Amino acid sequence: MGTRKNQSTLTAAEKAAFVAAVKALKANGTYDVFVDQHRTAFLAGVNDPAHGGPAFLPWHREYLRRFELALQEIDPDVSIPYWDWTVDRTAGASIWNADFMGGNGTGPGGRVMTGPFAFSTGEWTLTVLDPGDTDTFLTRAFGVMGSLPTQQGVNTATNIVPYDSPPWNRNSSTSTSFRNHLEGIIHNPGHMWVGGSMMAMSSPNDPVFWLHHCNIDRLWSVWQRENPGQNYLPPSGTPGVVDGHGLDDPMPPWNNEASPPMPRDVLDHHALGYTYDDEEPTQVVPLTVDAAPFTASIGQAGEIDAYSFVASTQESYVIETEGSTDVVAALYGPNDANALIAEDDDSGVDQNSRIARNLVPGTYYVRIRHYSSSSTGSYRISVRGSGLQPGIQTIQVNGPAVQGTLSAANERDLYTFTVVTPGSHTIETAGSTDCFLTLFGPNSQTTVITQDDDSGPGTNSRIVQNLGAGVYYVQVRHYSPTGTGAYSVSVRT
Ligand code: ZN
Ligand code: ZN
Repeated sequence: MGTRKNQSTLTAAEKAAFVAAVKALKANGTYDVFVDQHRTAFLAGVNDPAHGGPAFLPWHREYLRRFELALQEIDPDVSIPYWDWTVDRTAGASIWNADFMGGNGTGPGGRVMTGPFAFSTGEWTLTVLDPGDTDTFLTRAFGVMGSLPTQQGVNTATNIVPYDSPPWNRNSSTSTSFRNHLEGIIHNPGHMWVGGSMMAMSSPNDPVFWLHHCNIDRLWSVWQRENPGQNYLPPSGTPGVVDGHGLDDPMPPWNNEASPPMPRDVLDHHALGYTYDDEEPTQVVPLTVDAAPFTASIGQAGEIDAYSFVASTQESYVIETEGSTDVVAALYGPNDANALIAEDDDSGVDQNSRIARNLVPGTYYVRIRHYSSSSTGSYRISVRGSGLQPGIQTIQVNGPAVQGTLSAANERDLYTFTVVTPGSHTIETAGSTDCFLTLFGPNSQTTVITQDDDSGPGTNSRIVQNLGAGVYYVQVRHYSPTGTGAYSVSVRT
């Protein structure tokens, strides 16, 4: 598995190897075939398979991967590095040094005069040009046409869902289309800030194209990791979607190959054979329900911490973080680390996460990340069963009925009452919701005494039971696994 690294961390030897492989592809003609594919995509106008639509990210992922494999035929140790312009955002950044990408366009016509891709080297003559363009030298004009995205802008982008939205093009709302936000607000300014050749349909003529698009591809992978419940959109055949942009559409210009790549084929970049240097191998830490909070930290930007816990009884659980770090929690299960149940950013104290759910017995998984993909910090995490939860509601024996609502499928509401004087007790629901009662105790949330569905008026539940002194628990659920509704519950002697 090749690792794509932040270009600012490359050693001198790694930079030299990347430059040498790029120049070898230029010398043997392969490089300009790639430039032509990109120009051809743009020249298709409204039928562009690569820009202004959902396949913007899959198309460039496939395109970069093919370029990377071509580089690796020259030098198997080379991967495409990424340019994180939220950090390296000035003309003085090392990426523009003469040992790597070379500098700004300081010569006539914005010609690049330094580094391995200067025209004067005799090894970087542009042959694939936009219609009407005659400059055969690389040009740049840093900062003239735009400004580079900030980390705050990136955070906004990677928190947008869903992946894309109608009308599935450049007019898709940047608040409901992650793709159009990333393409229009984050990606385009990168081309514009570099300026010159990077503004053209044949922008891959500037080798920084690959580093810029590698960062865009990385941000897509960050979004995918942070939004595991979100999938590529739209499916093939969606009205108004340009050919090549549906999930199972073959992507031009590779659509005449024996097994042409489709967006579906490139969704998992690990399956394509590469990873990014900011991805952590996932180690799952087991948590114990009702144990003291576990102290951990987001030690690296973009890190995701994984936990598991076992819910041994059916009751409500609270997964909560503490501390001053703005973390986001996601809960998965039961017995499936990828079945998302709930995600929460700030329902806890301060900017902490808090997920409260009624859970059936099973193994559950929790993933914790920082709200900002560039920030780090420590936090504590705990899982509590409802036995220790101060929020568990008490029913007063012979007091008023307690109002409750089953607001979600499979919800279980838990109550407690205390018997001081032994004798016959009636536990009963009222209302038009078909409730199902389970009575536990004494002094146990797991020892079932009895259950009832419809012994009360209508479809209400009623349990009449002789009870000794002690603490009892009443669980209310809907008779139907998917049913919801309001009810009240009371205990009388
Ligand atoms: Zn492009
Ligand atoms: Zn681009």
